[in-house]
Amino acid sequence: MRAHDSRLSARGWKGTLTRISRRSGLLALLSAAAAVIGLGAIFAISLRAELADLEARGQAVLAQAAGRVLGQISPYQQLPRLLSRDPRLTGLFDGSAEPGEVVDFLTITALTVGADAIYVLDGSGRVLAASETGRGAPAIGEALGRRPYVPPALTGALGRALEVEPATGRRQIIFAHGVFAGSPPPTGVVVVRVNADALEFAWEVEPAVLTFTDQRGLVFLSNRTELALLLDAAAAPGTPPPPETRGAFPARRPLHWLHPRWVALPDGGVLPPRALELSRPMPQIDLVAHVFLDTREAEATAGLVTLVAAGGMLTLSALLWALGQRRRRLADRLAAEAAANARLEARVAERTRQLEAAQEQLVQAGRLSALGQMSAGISHELNQPLAAIRAYAENAVKLLDRGRIAETRGNLGEIAGQAERITRIIRNLRAFARNEPEPPVPVDIGAAVAEALRLAAPRAREEGVELVPDLPGGRLIGLAGEVRLQQVVLNIVNNAIDAAAGGEAPRVEVTVEDLGERVAIRVRDNGPGISEPERVFEPFYTTKEIGASKGLGLGLSISYGIIGSFGGTLSCRNLARGAEFEIILRKAMP
Ligand code: ADP
Repeated sequence: MRAHDSRLSARGWKGTLTRISRRSGLLALLSAAAAVIGLGAIFAISLRAELADLEARGQAVLAQAAGRVLGQISPYQQLPRLLSRDPRLTGLFDGSAEPGEVVDFLTITALTVGADAIYVLDGSGRVLAASETGRGAPAIGEALGRRPYVPPALTGALGRALEVEPATGRRQIIFAHGVFAGSPPPTGVVVVRVNADALEFAWEVEPAVLTFTDQRGLVFLSNRTELALLLDAAAAPGTPPPPETRGAFPARRPLHWLHPRWVALPDGGVLPPRALELSRPMPQIDLVAHVFLDTREAEATAGLVTLVAAGGMLTLSALLWALGQRRRRLADRLAAEAAANARLEARVAERTRQLEAAQEQLVQAGRLSALGQMSAGISHELNQPLAAIRAYAENAVKLLDRGRIAETRGNLGEIAGQAERITRIIRNLRAFARNEPEPPVPVDIGAAVAEALRLAAPRAREEGVELVPDLPGGRLIGLAGEVRLQQVVLNIVNNAIDAAAGGEAPRVEVTVEDLGERVAIRVRDNGPGISEPERVFEPFYTTKEIGASKGLGLGLSISYGIIGSFGGTLSCRNLARGAEFEIILRKAMP
């Protein structure tokens, strides 16, 4: 049974281990997943913050760049208006100016302000005069009336255009204003042309890529010359590609999960592979400014933050792991201690069992010795009825001879009664010698005590001790075993007789008292009292001579065990004179 148990528990132990390792594996997996998700979130949050910062910086760059372009072109924008009322130009129309002088004036002005060319058109848009700056000013007489900047200029407004020279690919910014020879309307147009290259040349080096697209999506200005005249379809979707287009602007793929204007430029060339693209319209010259801010640094910063967080997490998990290990070691130690305790308890249980067995043997030995002690009383007890039987039988024979049948029957009845008494004595003797492990049963306590006293009486007489019973009139039923209870009472009464014998007026009182739920049997003597009351229930404790007829020191210890097995108690105390032994038994409840 025990082996079966240990097998079972071994299997359970292994099962627990597998469960634990499976559980911790799952836990590790979950923690790893949580860590990855957490790190992803940290990366996303910090990158988003970095991109927001970058956007703020980008807006500033954009505003600065747009301001710079507007500042650069502003003088050229003002110039036609200034020239429109200049007498040297108006003189061209009323004949007061020398054409050669006008050309000189235009040339000097163009050179002074850094314009590409300045020229004057008549009311139909033909070139009347042009500066000689060597950069290909229009030829005299060339008809430019269809150019977009001419009609507004002829109505008195400022005409402007962004043009690309088909032959050279030069990008030109053009401003035009009416020339007023007299009162409006204007009689001609003065045109100032600026080369975009000249503007870009003045720009300082800017790490962010800037482009300025016109209404058709063409990159008109940029701080990266490679991008000039590429068609940025995204800037003006739906418009047909103009003939000046040099190629397509690098395609971008939106990466807007962290920022709406974050784009990837896989084949960007001079553009960064991933950028924040910000735009800003410049209605003053019909351009839209764009900036492409490299996001790699922001990504690296977010990566670094994530790395630091991962380091923190790693340190924390290492700490937690170490803590867990410590706890596990502690648990192991506790388990080892518990196992040691269990082993110890098993050993104690085994010893207890051995002791109990030894005690059992002692009880049996004591019982046999008590039997020896009792045999004297019993033989005396048997002799009496046997003698009576003999007398009755002899009498019966005589009565039969005389034909006195009725008296003979009476004698035979007496014989049967005496035989019954003998049978009872023998039955008690047998039961007494046998081991009786039965549970307590209802027993007539008065009767049992009376029977014990009957067995003790011959010895009492022999020793000259007076036995004084005080038994209840009615039946008092307690929980016990009849014969075992008799054995105990007989033992205690015999001890009391031993103690009282030889003293003055030796006497042993035996009382049975109803205590309500319990019954008390008390045996008092007027002997010398108990010398060591706390030791009398110890096995082999005796103050009598060791010997077959005298003390073995087992009687009281066996009695103690027997009364305990009934659920009762046995105790003793010294009186003013003598000793009292008290048995308390539970009453059998009806
Ligand atoms: P035994 O009678 O063989 O000595 P018991 O266990 O019956 O063994 O008694 C143990 C001891 O208890 C006795 O030796 C005696 O010293 C003491 N004892 C028992 N009953 C009395 C009593 N009524 N008065 C004084 N001493 C007693």
